[in-house]
Amino acid sequence: MKIAQSTCVRCHGIFPRTEMTQINVSENAGTSWGLSRNLKGGSTARGSFRVYRRNKRVWVCNICGTGNRVNVGFAVYFYIFLATMLILSLADYFK
Ligand SMILES: [Zn+2]
Repeated sequence: MKIAQSTCVRCHGIFPRTEMTQINVSENAGTSWGLSRNLKGGSTARGSFRVYRRNKRVWVCNICGTGNRVNVGFAVYFYIFLATMLILSLADYFK
């Protein structure tokens, strides 16, 4: 019996799925720009911008690690932001 193989999203290596983990990632599915202008009214223009996101399941090999660490960069910045806010609020408290 042949084991199904998949491509790792990080290292792009091909591994048997028995040595891989499936994770959920959220990706940009596309963007939509809208600009409508009131032709009768003249100067008023309305713009809208939407980002469509969709979740998909991808495979990551065990070498690249398990767990959802695809967005680790964002998480790091988020925790730095939280820590900064905490320090600032503490500094304000002890003033
Ligand atoms: Zn990998």
